[in-house]
Amino acid sequence: MNGEDCEFCQGRGWIVDLATNRARRCTCHATRVRGRRVDDLGIPPKYQGCRLTNFRLAGDVGDQLLTARRDCDQYIEEFMELDGSLNETGLVFIGPSGRGKTHLAVAVLIELAEQYGVGGRFVDFTSLVADIQATFQPNAPRNQADLLRPLQEAEVVVVDELGARRPSPFVSDTLYLLINGRYMARRPTLFTSNFYLTSEADGDSADAAARTLTGRVPASLISRLHQMAKPILIDAVGDYRHELQAHQHR
Ligand SMILES: [Zn+2]
Repeated sequence: MNGEDCEFCQGRGWIVDLATNRARRCTCHATRVRGRRVDDLGIPPKYQGCRLTNFRLAGDVGDQLLTARRDCDQYIEEFMELDGSLNETGLVFIGPSGRGKTHLAVAVLIELAEQYGVGGRFVDFTSLVADIQATFQPNAPRNQADLLRPLQEAEVVVVDELGARRPSPFVSDTLYLLINGRYMARRPTLFTSNFYLTSEADGDSADAAARTLTGRVPASLISRLHQMAKPILIDAVGDYRHELQAHQHR
């Protein structure tokens, strides 16, 4: 069906649900984008089954994980404004490896694609850095514009493991242009990171500094992150890892 002919939304592509007073995408939009949604998000096979409903609230840090999951639920629920525009603020999941940051980010991306029909992209930071670096080589098989365009244009992007690799200065500039470009275009970006933006880390020891993004991504990008993504901490110290191992060994 052509969107302009839709009897439900008159071609706007979204509808205000009077029962809940929330906006949602019209079914005509889903028809137009069907087939390019979940399969087209670029999610690696090992994460494709990640949903909020199967996120495991393990160990004695379950309260923090529950809060993180609730924050995700709320983010999804409020993602579309009453005028049909999308929430321009993203999320940044922060905490050590193995806590489920990527699980939650992927689950949110899939829910947004399924509920609202948004086009999204998942990208691993280390791969992105390597791919950008490769575009600077002579006779590069792929030019930078072709590499970055899908990430600039996607309605939602997940950048996994931000700061996992230190980019060269040229790559840093390109990363900033990409992320800042999404911010300027009011397109939300979700991040996961093992590192704190800056101030969330407790104490001012060298150890605390080593747990921040400082020096791993450009300072301009860190300050932009504060403006464009709401932090969700998954960092509580508990027996989570112990529990996880205990379960794996059963
Ligand atoms: Zn419609």
